[in-house]
Amino acid sequence: MAAELPAAKGVGDLRKMKAAPDARGQVLYRLRAGEYEADLNACIGAPLRLEWEGVIHCVHCKRRTRKSYGQGHCYPCFKRLARCDMCIVKPELCHYFQGTCREPEWGEAHCFTPHVVYLANSSGLKVGITRKTQLPTRWLDQGAVQGIPMLEVATRQQAGQAEVMLKDAVSDRTNWRTMLKGEIDLLDLDAERDRLLARFEPALAELRKTHGADAIRRLDAPAQRFTYPVRTFPHKVASLNLEKTPRIEGVLEGIKGQYLLLDTGVINLRKFSGYRVSVTTG
Ligand SMILES: [Zn+2]
Repeated sequence: MAAELPAAKGVGDLRKMKAAPDARGQVLYRLRAGEYEADLNACIGAPLRLEWEGVIHCVHCKRRTRKSYGQGHCYPCFKRLARCDMCIVKPELCHYFQGTCREPEWGEAHCFTPHVVYLANSSGLKVGITRKTQLPTRWLDQGAVQGIPMLEVATRQQAGQAEVMLKDAVSDRTNWRTMLKGEIDLLDLDAERDRLLARFEPALAELRKTHGADAIRRLDAPAQRFTYPVRTFPHKVASLNLEKTPRIEGVLEGIKGQYLLLDTGVINLRKFSGYRVSVTTG
Protein backbone atom coordinates (compact mmCIF):
# COMPACT_ATOMS: atom_id res chain seq x y z
CA MET A 1 0.00 0.00 0.00
CA ALA A 2 1.07 3.57 -0.61
CA ALA A 3 3.18 5.30 1.98
CA GLU A 4 2.02 8.56 3.56
CA LEU A 5 1.42 11.18 0.91
CA PRO A 6 1.65 14.93 1.25
CA ALA A 7 -1.28 17.22 0.46
CA ALA A 8 -2.68 17.24 -3.09
CA LYS A 9 -0.36 18.79 -5.63
CA GLY A 10 -2.89 19.66 -8.26
CA VAL A 11 -6.64 19.87 -8.83
CA GLY A 12 -8.41 20.01 -12.16
CA ASP A 13 -10.36 18.20 -14.87
CA LEU A 14 -8.54 15.06 -16.06
CA ARG A 15 -7.37 15.05 -19.65
CA LYS A 16 -5.82 12.27 -21.64
CA MET A 17 -2.13 11.92 -20.80
CA LYS A 18 0.34 13.59 -23.08
CA ALA A 19 2.62 10.91 -24.56
CA ALA A 20 5.67 11.36 -26.78
CA PRO A 21 8.63 9.11 -27.59
CA ASP A 22 12.20 10.23 -26.97
CA ALA A 23 14.97 9.59 -29.56
CA ARG A 24 15.26 5.93 -28.44
CA GLY A 25 11.51 5.27 -28.51
CA GLN A 26 11.05 5.40 -24.74
CA VAL A 27 7.58 6.87 -24.12
CA LEU A 28 7.46 9.97 -21.92
CA TYR A 29 4.16 10.67 -20.15
CA ARG A 30 2.65 13.76 -18.59
CA LEU A 31 -0.42 13.57 -16.37
CA ARG A 32 -2.80 16.46 -16.97
CA ALA A 33 -5.61 17.73 -14.73
CA GLY A 34 -6.74 21.23 -15.69
CA GLU A 35 -3.69 23.48 -15.59
CA TYR A 36 -1.74 20.95 -13.53
CA GLU A 37 0.87 18.77 -15.27
CA ALA A 38 3.25 16.20 -13.85
CA ASP A 39 6.16 14.25 -15.33
CA LEU A 40 4.81 10.74 -14.67
CA ASN A 41 7.96 8.83 -15.71
CA ALA A 42 9.62 10.40 -12.67
CA CYS A 43 6.85 8.96 -10.46
CA ILE A 44 7.41 5.27 -11.32
CA GLY A 45 7.91 3.36 -8.06
CA ALA A 46 6.32 6.11 -5.99
CA PRO A 47 2.85 6.39 -4.45
CA LEU A 48 0.14 8.15 -6.44
CA ARG A 49 -3.37 9.19 -5.50
CA LEU A 50 -6.30 10.37 -7.60
CA GLU A 51 -9.36 11.60 -5.79
CA TRP A 52 -12.59 12.39 -7.64
CA GLU A 53 -14.74 15.09 -6.13
CA GLY A 54 -17.93 13.91 -7.86
CA VAL A 55 -17.85 16.65 -10.50
CA ILE A 56 -17.55 16.13 -14.29
CA HIS A 57 -17.06 19.00 -16.74
CA CYS A 58 -17.75 18.41 -20.44
CA VAL A 59 -14.41 18.37 -22.29
CA HIS A 60 -15.97 20.49 -25.06
CA CYS A 61 -18.36 23.09 -23.57
CA LYS A 62 -16.94 22.88 -20.00
CA ARG A 63 -20.45 22.78 -18.52
CA ARG A 64 -21.07 20.47 -15.57
CA THR A 65 -22.62 17.13 -16.55
CA ARG A 66 -23.98 14.40 -14.32
CA LYS A 67 -22.73 11.65 -16.63
CA SER A 68 -19.94 11.39 -19.20
CA TYR A 69 -20.78 10.40 -22.79
CA GLY A 70 -18.18 9.46 -25.41
CA GLN A 71 -15.10 9.98 -23.20
CA GLY A 72 -15.97 13.19 -21.40
CA HIS A 73 -18.83 14.91 -23.24
CA CYS A 74 -22.15 16.17 -21.87
CA TYR A 75 -25.23 14.66 -23.52
CA PRO A 76 -26.06 17.71 -25.72
CA CYS A 77 -22.46 17.82 -27.06
CA PHE A 78 -22.45 14.05 -27.55
CA LYS A 79 -25.56 14.32 -29.73
CA ARG A 80 -24.50 17.48 -31.57
CA LEU A 81 -20.76 17.17 -32.33
CA ALA A 82 -19.53 15.44 -35.47
CA ARG A 83 -16.58 14.02 -33.50
CA CYS A 84 -19.06 12.01 -31.38
CA ASP A 85 -20.92 10.60 -34.39
CA MET A 86 -20.78 6.90 -35.33
CA CYS A 87 -18.99 7.76 -38.60
CA ILE A 88 -15.85 8.70 -36.64
CA VAL A 89 -15.54 5.12 -35.37
CA LYS A 90 -16.79 3.66 -38.67
CA PRO A 91 -15.55 6.18 -41.27
CA GLU A 92 -16.84 4.07 -44.14
CA LEU A 93 -20.27 5.34 -42.97
CA CYS A 94 -19.32 8.99 -43.69
CA HIS A 95 -22.53 10.80 -44.69
CA TYR A 96 -21.05 14.19 -45.58
CA PHE A 97 -22.11 13.88 -49.23
CA GLN A 98 -25.73 13.25 -48.18
CA GLY A 99 -25.63 16.72 -46.64
CA THR A 100 -26.18 15.33 -43.13
CA CYS A 101 -22.78 15.90 -41.52
CA ARG A 102 -23.44 17.26 -38.02
CA GLU A 103 -20.75 19.94 -38.47
CA PRO A 104 -19.68 20.21 -42.14
CA GLU A 105 -16.88 22.70 -41.40
CA TRP A 106 -15.41 20.49 -38.70
CA GLY A 107 -15.67 17.54 -41.08
CA GLU A 108 -13.85 19.43 -43.83
CA ALA A 109 -11.03 20.34 -41.43
CA HIS A 110 -10.71 16.91 -39.76
CA CYS A 111 -12.00 14.24 -42.18
CA PHE A 112 -11.10 15.69 -45.58
CA THR A 113 -7.39 15.73 -44.70
CA PRO A 114 -4.64 13.16 -45.27
CA HIS A 115 -5.16 9.99 -43.22
CA VAL A 116 -2.87 7.04 -42.68
CA VAL A 117 -3.76 3.35 -42.63
CA TYR A 118 -1.23 1.67 -40.35
CA LEU A 119 -0.23 -1.62 -38.81
CA ALA A 120 0.59 -1.72 -35.11
CA ASN A 121 1.50 -4.32 -32.53
CA SER A 122 -0.44 -3.61 -29.33
CA SER A 123 -1.65 -7.04 -28.19
CA GLY A 124 -0.67 -8.60 -31.53
CA LEU A 125 -0.96 -7.40 -35.11
CA LYS A 126 -3.71 -4.87 -35.76
CA VAL A 127 -4.75 -2.47 -38.49
CA GLY A 128 -5.93 1.06 -37.77
CA ILE A 129 -6.42 4.49 -39.23
CA THR A 130 -5.70 8.00 -38.02
CA ARG A 131 -5.14 11.53 -39.21
CA LYS A 132 -1.62 11.84 -40.55
CA THR A 133 -0.77 14.41 -37.86
CA GLN A 134 -1.78 11.97 -35.09
CA LEU A 135 1.16 9.60 -35.56
CA PRO A 136 2.88 8.39 -33.45
CA THR A 137 0.47 9.62 -30.71
CA ARG A 138 -2.25 7.21 -31.82
CA TRP A 139 0.13 4.23 -31.46
CA LEU A 140 1.21 5.34 -27.98
CA ASP A 141 -2.43 5.77 -26.87
CA GLN A 142 -3.04 2.16 -27.87
CA GLY A 143 0.05 0.92 -26.03
CA ALA A 144 1.60 -0.35 -29.27
CA VAL A 145 5.21 -1.56 -29.03
CA GLN A 146 5.60 -1.19 -32.80
CA GLY A 147 3.90 0.74 -35.57
CA ILE A 148 4.34 1.17 -39.30
CA PRO A 149 2.46 3.38 -41.76
CA MET A 150 1.04 1.50 -44.71
CA LEU A 151 -1.09 3.77 -46.91
CA GLU A 152 -1.70 7.47 -47.13
CA VAL A 153 -5.18 8.38 -48.32
CA ALA A 154 -6.94 11.68 -49.03
CA THR A 155 -9.92 11.41 -46.63
CA ARG A 156 -11.10 9.63 -43.50
CA GLN A 157 -13.79 7.82 -45.48
CA GLN A 158 -11.18 6.34 -47.85
CA ALA A 159 -9.12 5.25 -44.84
CA GLY A 160 -12.23 3.54 -43.47
CA GLN A 161 -12.84 1.74 -46.77
CA ALA A 162 -9.24 0.51 -46.89
CA GLU A 163 -9.46 -0.62 -43.25
CA VAL A 164 -12.70 -2.55 -43.83
CA MET A 165 -10.94 -4.36 -46.66
CA LEU A 166 -7.88 -5.20 -44.53
CA LYS A 167 -10.04 -6.39 -41.61
CA ASP A 168 -10.58 -9.57 -43.59
CA ALA A 169 -6.95 -10.43 -42.81
CA VAL A 170 -6.01 -8.45 -39.67
CA SER A 171 -7.83 -7.52 -36.45
CA ASP A 172 -8.67 -3.87 -35.82
CA ARG A 173 -8.90 -4.42 -32.05
CA THR A 174 -6.52 -4.27 -29.11
CA ASN A 175 -7.01 -6.76 -26.30
CA TRP A 176 -6.22 -4.28 -23.53
CA ARG A 177 -5.76 -6.97 -20.87
CA THR A 178 -3.13 -8.69 -23.01
CA MET A 179 -1.57 -5.30 -23.81
CA LEU A 180 -1.25 -4.56 -20.06
CA LYS A 181 -0.14 -8.00 -18.90
CA GLY A 182 3.42 -7.95 -20.12
CA GLU A 183 5.91 -7.79 -22.90
CA ILE A 184 4.39 -8.37 -26.32
CA ASP A 185 6.35 -10.49 -28.83
CA LEU A 186 7.86 -8.34 -31.54
CA LEU A 187 6.71 -8.79 -35.14
CA ASP A 188 8.32 -8.10 -38.50
CA LEU A 189 5.96 -5.27 -39.42
CA ASP A 190 7.84 -4.41 -42.62
CA ALA A 191 7.22 -7.95 -43.88
CA GLU A 192 3.57 -7.90 -42.71
CA ARG A 193 3.00 -4.64 -44.60
CA ASP A 194 4.54 -5.99 -47.80
CA ARG A 195 2.55 -9.21 -47.52
CA LEU A 196 -0.78 -7.41 -46.99
CA LEU A 197 -0.20 -4.80 -49.70
CA ALA A 198 0.60 -7.57 -52.19
CA ARG A 199 -2.46 -9.59 -51.18
CA PHE A 200 -4.84 -6.61 -51.35
CA GLU A 201 -3.37 -4.95 -54.45
CA PRO A 202 -6.40 -5.82 -56.66
CA ALA A 203 -8.82 -4.39 -54.06
CA LEU A 204 -6.68 -1.26 -53.66
CA ALA A 205 -6.69 -0.82 -57.43
CA GLU A 206 -10.51 -0.84 -57.28
CA LEU A 207 -10.48 1.88 -54.59
CA ARG A 208 -8.15 3.96 -56.79
CA LYS A 209 -10.62 3.63 -59.66
CA THR A 210 -13.28 5.22 -57.44
CA HIS A 211 -11.18 7.90 -55.73
CA GLY A 212 -8.43 8.66 -58.27
CA ALA A 213 -4.97 7.24 -58.85
CA ASP A 214 -3.31 9.66 -56.39
CA ALA A 215 -5.84 9.22 -53.59
CA ILE A 216 -4.39 6.00 -52.14
CA ARG A 217 -0.62 5.89 -51.93
CA ARG A 218 1.65 3.23 -50.49
CA LEU A 219 4.04 4.42 -47.75
CA ASP A 220 7.52 3.01 -47.26
CA ALA A 221 8.69 4.44 -43.92
CA PRO A 222 10.29 1.86 -41.61
CA ALA A 223 8.58 0.44 -38.51
CA GLN A 224 9.01 2.29 -35.22
CA ARG A 225 9.61 0.62 -31.87
CA PHE A 226 8.36 1.94 -28.51
CA THR A 227 9.14 1.02 -24.92
CA TYR A 228 6.93 2.00 -22.01
CA PRO A 229 7.90 3.00 -18.48
CA VAL A 230 6.86 -0.19 -16.66
CA ARG A 231 8.62 -1.54 -13.56
CA THR A 232 6.27 -4.46 -12.91
CA PHE A 233 3.45 -5.75 -15.12
CA PRO A 234 0.29 -6.83 -13.24
CA HIS A 235 -0.25 -10.61 -12.79
CA LYS A 236 -3.98 -10.06 -12.77
CA VAL A 237 -5.48 -7.03 -14.47
CA ALA A 238 -7.94 -5.50 -11.98
CA SER A 239 -9.70 -2.48 -13.45
CA LEU A 240 -10.20 0.60 -11.24
CA ASN A 241 -13.09 3.00 -11.73
CA LEU A 242 -13.45 6.46 -10.14
CA GLU A 243 -17.24 6.09 -10.14
CA LYS A 244 -16.98 3.03 -7.88
CA THR A 245 -13.81 4.08 -6.01
CA PRO A 246 -13.56 7.89 -5.93
CA ARG A 247 -10.23 7.66 -4.13
CA ILE A 248 -7.68 5.59 -6.05
CA GLU A 249 -4.31 5.11 -4.46
CA GLY A 250 -1.31 2.88 -5.01
CA VAL A 251 2.31 2.62 -6.07
CA LEU A 252 2.76 3.52 -9.73
CA GLU A 253 4.29 0.41 -11.29
CA GLY A 254 4.04 1.56 -14.88
CA ILE A 255 2.27 3.43 -17.66
CA LYS A 256 1.15 1.96 -20.98
CA GLY A 257 -1.34 3.29 -23.52
CA GLN A 258 -3.62 5.59 -21.54
CA TYR A 259 -3.47 3.28 -18.50
CA LEU A 260 -1.81 3.81 -15.16
CA LEU A 261 -0.59 0.50 -13.71
CA LEU A 262 -0.83 0.77 -9.91
CA ASP A 263 -0.05 -2.04 -7.47
CA THR A 264 -3.76 -1.85 -6.55
CA GLY A 265 -5.10 -2.13 -10.13
CA VAL A 266 -5.12 -0.38 -13.49
CA ILE A 267 -7.04 2.72 -14.57
CA ASN A 268 -7.79 3.94 -18.09
CA LEU A 269 -7.41 7.69 -17.62
CA ARG A 270 -8.93 8.52 -20.99
CA LYS A 271 -12.22 7.06 -19.84
CA PHE A 272 -12.32 9.68 -17.07
CA SER A 273 -11.65 12.75 -19.21
CA GLY A 274 -13.44 15.73 -17.68
CA TYR A 275 -13.57 14.23 -14.15
CA ARG A 276 -12.38 16.82 -11.65
CA VAL A 277 -9.71 15.17 -9.50
CA SER A 278 -7.07 16.10 -7.02
CA VAL A 279 -3.72 14.53 -7.79
CA THR A 280 -1.06 13.63 -5.27
CA THR A 281 2.29 12.21 -6.30
CA GLY A 282 4.99 10.87 -3.97
ZN1 LIG B 1 -20.82 19.85 -23.57
